Amino acid sequence: MSGPEETVPPGAVTFPADTKVLGAAEKAWTLGLCAECLGRLFGRLGHGLSNPERAHRLAVSLGRTVPPVETTGCTLCRGAFDRWETWIPRAVRAAEGVEWQRFACGSRWDPEILAREETLWVDVGTSHGESARGAFNREWGKRLETATGTLGGPTDPEIVFLADLPVGRVEVTLQPLYVRGRYRKLDRTIPQTRWPCRRCGGIGCDTCAGTGKTYPTSVEEIVAAPFLDATHGEGTRFHGMGREDIDARMLGRGRPFVLEIRRPKVRSIDVAALARSVAERSEGKVEFLEARAAGSADVVRVKEASPSKSYRVEFSVEAPVEKIKEAVSFAASRAIAQRTPTRVAHRRSDLVRERRILDARVVAASSGRFTLDLRAEAGTYIKEWVEGDGGRTEPSLAGTLGAPVKVEALDVLEIHDEE
Ligand SMILES: [Zn+2]
Ligand SMILES: [Zn+2]
Repeated sequence: MSGPEETVPPGAVTFPADTKVLGAAEKAWTLGLCAECLGRLFGRLGHGLSNPERAHRLAVSLGRTVPPVETTGCTLCRGAFDRWETWIPRAVRAAEGVEWQRFACGSRWDPEILAREETLWVDVGTSHGESARGAFNREWGKRLETATGTLGGPTDPEIVFLADLPVGRVEVTLQPLYVRGRYRKLDRTIPQTRWPCRRCGGIGCDTCAGTGKTYPTSVEEIVAAPFLDATHGEGTRFHGMGREDIDARMLGRGRPFVLEIRRPKVRSIDVAALARSVAERSEGKVEFLEARAAGSADVVRVKEASPSKSYRVEFSVEAPVEKIKEAVSFAASRAIAQRTPTRVAHRRSDLVRERRILDARVVAASSGRFTLDLRAEAGTYIKEWVEGDGGRTEPSLAGTLGAPVKVEALDVLEIHDEE
C-alpha cells in the first residue's frame, strides 16, 4: 500500500494540519508571534506554502485572527524577517567591485533567540518546527538571487555572505580561485615556493636586503604573477605534487600543481593565455603547461598523489665505466634503507624508510663523469642514493663502489602521475 505522500502530484500545495497541529497552533496563538514565526512552528509540514501562508491557513481552521505579517513587534524574531531592504543593499555594498556567479549565505543570530525558539517547540508541542536561521538564510538567498542575478546554493560558492543580525553588518568571504597544470623549471637557482628569510622569518632584515626572502624569486611567485595581476588577488598558495631541489631542473611534461589565489576580485580570466605568459615573463626559466581551471578538490588530489619519478643524474667518480655499470645494477636491484638525510633532518622526522629504484642505466660516460637515468619510487632521495650520505642510505652507489661519488647535476625528467 502506498502512503498518502506518494499520491500527491509534484508541485502541489499540501498542509495536512491534524488535531495535534491545530492544538499546538492554538497554544502558540497568544504568544505574540508574527505570521512568519507562527507558520514556521510548522515549517517542515507540507509543501508549497510560505510560513506566513501556513499561519493564514491555521488562522482559518482555528477561527482566529490572522497574525501580523510585519515582524517588528514579534516576541521571537524581533523584526528579523522585515529588514530585507537593509540586508540586500548591505550585501551588495560589501561585495562591491567583486565578480562572482555563485554565492552561499548564512546568518549569525543572538543565541538566546535560537534557544527560545527551541523551547517554544517543546512548550507548544510541535515536531515540525523550522529554525529561524534556516528560514532566514533561505529567504535571504532567494532575494539575493533576484537582486544580483547570481546563483545561490551551497555547492562551490565563490563568495559567502554572512548577515550578523545582532551587529547589523554583512561579512563577505571571497573563496579562493584555483588553477592547475604542470610547471617546468629550466633554472638551477629557483626554489619551488617562496622561502622566508631564516634570520628574520619574512619581516625583512639586512641579510635578506629587506625582502624577507632567502631567494629573490620562486616558481610560485613566477607562476602566480600574471594571475595576481588579472584577478587582483591578495596572495597565493602553491600546492605542488612534491618538489625538487632548488638546483634541480624540472623537465619533461613538468610537475603537477595547483595554484590557489586568495581573495580574487576578478574571476573571468583567460587561464590559457595567462599561463602562456609565464615563460616570457620569466625569460624562459619557468613554463606553465596544461593550464586549466581547478577546484579545492584538486589540491587534495595533488597533495595525496605519490607517483614514481624519473631522474637524470650526472656524477663524478674515479672508476672505470664497467665497474660503474655493475655497481648501478647491484645497488638498483636491492631495497634501499634510507635514513632521513642530514640536509632535511631539521624539517622531517628522523626515520629509516624503505624505497626502491625501479630502473637505472648509465647513458653517458666520459673521463670520470657519468650520466645515469633512473626511475624511483616516490620519496626516494636520489642524491643520497648516489653519494651514500655517510652510510645513512644503504645500499648506495658510492658504498657499492667503495669510492667517493659526487653528484654534479640532477634533473627530474618525468613525474609519472598518470600511470
Ligand atoms: Zn517573528
Ligand atoms: Zn631577513
